[in-house]
Amino acid sequence: METISTDAQAIEHKIRDILTYIGDDPQREGLKDTPKRMRKSWEKLFSGYTQDSKDILTTTFKDGSCNEMVILKDIEFYSCCEHHFLPFVGKITIGYIPDGKIVGVSKLARLVEVYARRLQIQERLTGQIADDIMKCIQAQGCMVVCEAQHLCMTSRGVEKQESKMITSAVRGVFKTQIEIREEFLKLIK
Ligand SMILES: [Zn+2]
Repeated sequence: METISTDAQAIEHKIRDILTYIGDDPQREGLKDTPKRMRKSWEKLFSGYTQDSKDILTTTFKDGSCNEMVILKDIEFYSCCEHHFLPFVGKITIGYIPDGKIVGVSKLARLVEVYARRLQIQERLTGQIADDIMKCIQAQGCMVVCEAQHLCMTSRGVEKQESKMITSAVRGVFKTQIEIREEFLKLIK
């Protein structure tokens, strides 16, 4: 048997209490290892807390000629609503205009992971990504669009199965120059 820390043991114990609270028997065969599986799944689901976007966006490429729009579309993400501890899942599209400094395209996808893998609200998730792009690569501007389905909406409460929430964050020249924003919206359509 693997040895686990006292913290991990305490958490598994609390999860067993939750299983009892909702009306089930934590000792039955199918649930015996559920506390351990839940705890382990959280290592991935909440891995954003141990990551810093600064470490991801440090490697930039300098190229004075790079000042045209860059878009990474439909980055899938999986996050957890901080109000209900239920998943919300969707896609994020990032567009930015560099100022002679660009990042590898996979770095943008990793940036999404840093903030999605935490307890979140969609509005903040969208804004944090935009703020980091502005701060870490000193872009001229950026826009982030996030479209997601929230299990707290679709599985409980008002039970609207198909509803999607769309949020956007607009920074720099995307905010001040309407034609840049329009070009972005046309390209991602
Ligand atoms: Zn919620």
